Amino acid sequence: MQTLTTIPDIQDWLNHQKAQGKTIALVPTMGGIHRGHFALIEAAKKVADIVIVSIFVNPTQFGENEDLATYPSMIEKDKRLLIEYDTDILWLPNEKDLYPLDESFQIKAPSIANQYCGVSRPVFFHGISLVVLKLLNIIVPHTAFFGEKDYQQLHIIKLLVKDFFLPTQIITVPTVREADGLAMSTRNQYLSHQQRQTAIKLYQILCWAKIQIEQNQDILTTKNTAIKRLKSIFTFDYFEIIDSTTLQPVNQPIQNMYIITGVYLSKIRLIDNIKINYVQN
Ligand code: AMP
Repeated sequence: MQTLTTIPDIQDWLNHQKAQGKTIALVPTMGGIHRGHFALIEAAKKVADIVIVSIFVNPTQFGENEDLATYPSMIEKDKRLLIEYDTDILWLPNEKDLYPLDESFQIKAPSIANQYCGVSRPVFFHGISLVVLKLLNIIVPHTAFFGEKDYQQLHIIKLLVKDFFLPTQIITVPTVREADGLAMSTRNQYLSHQQRQTAIKLYQILCWAKIQIEQNQDILTTKNTAIKRLKSIFTFDYFEIIDSTTLQPVNQPIQNMYIITGVYLSKIRLIDNIKINYVQN
């Protein structure tokens, strides 16, 4: 695995590869590499000749009271894991290179960015959109891989690619879970043993609600019961049953539904989602 840092270095390297007709996949991450990231790399390897994994903890997506300063950073361990996983290129851009202006341009994402995760993290999706636009503009990969774990983020990135006519295909990878169902996340390592036992209840409640709706139980009743249960366990943020194409809440069952949720355990943020396989009679 080669590690590249500066933008000219990676672009020179890429020009050489592209001239030879190689296809390029980008897997953007914030490090703290785990099996969820591996699934993205695995999927990327299947379609591209060269897989670039980027690690960059993007400051513009963190609000003032969020965990930018304490976000897990373990670059040496990440490097070892990525080598084991046969990654071609690790790209470690630095902040000055990605944000060369004293005052950066801003991106105002569409209003969906202000719902769900965007309520408690008001700058999050605007910052994500800005950095993903920069990463995709620098690399111009044929494909870029994102996890379904961050469902709202995925939706907004697809809108970004469409609205800015970016020539990259966005490929979605299903959520990778621990054996007990907890969605893998870099932030899980903050969880104490006891919090780890509690965290699993998030997925259990999602599964319960999914089954209720698949069995034709009323959506609002299911939602209210799930919220009550979440509130008894976690610091509640949001829980919504949505149309997966628009991300807007539904009150009546439709073909394509997801449940998305976010909670806090102490200060640790957990998000998750699940697809509803609803068969209309
Ligand atoms: P992060 O490093 O948390 O910003 O995540 C980088 C990429 O990995 C994003 O596209 C995430 O959606 C994806 N990802 C994170 N956790 C998982 C998971 N458990 N399963 C699948 N993809 C994931």
